[in-house]
Amino acid sequence: MSFSRSEATTAPARAVRLPALPLSGGCQCGAVRLRASQAPVTFYLCHCTRCQRQSGSAFGESLMFRAEAVELSGPVSTLTQQGGSGKMSELTFCAACGSRLTHRMEGRDTLVVKSGTLDDPFWLRPAGEIFTATRQPWLTPVEGALQYEDAPDMAALQAHWAGMLED
Ligand SMILES: [Zn+2]
Ligand SMILES: [Zn+2]
Repeated sequence: MSFSRSEATTAPARAVRLPALPLSGGCQCGAVRLRASQAPVTFYLCHCTRCQRQSGSAFGESLMFRAEAVELSGPVSTLTQQGGSGKMSELTFCAACGSRLTHRMEGRDTLVVKSGTLDDPFWLRPAGEIFTATRQPWLTPVEGALQYEDAPDMAALQAHWAGMLED
């Protein structure tokens, strides 16, 4: 498999300071709470049109964890849906307010949290941007983020993120 990666601009070495664990978050109405007991393995922006439609916004924000690190509590509803890659994903939502919280692709040991659900998302900085072929034309690439026109090399995105975390 080949990846259409363009040159990253200057990498922001050690630019991310992980807050104390566990990380906490939740849905818009507060009925569902989220807890992450381990550091995320990467963070990226997805500019695909599915993420645009799902979020009703310009892009999706994906904060990836090892699946066992994330716990949800409260009235969670789930939906299984075929993703753009053809693989099935399990999506979770708050049953009370409908906020999307996570998705997990079939057969993966990782799970993706919608990072805007964190109580404190202000320390985050994307390691990469994916499906940039459909990035909204008024957005410019994030400095230091790996750029992929379509699907990313997930191992490279994880390694780049690891290099951005403060020791
Ligand atoms: Zn809710
Ligand atoms: Zn997407």
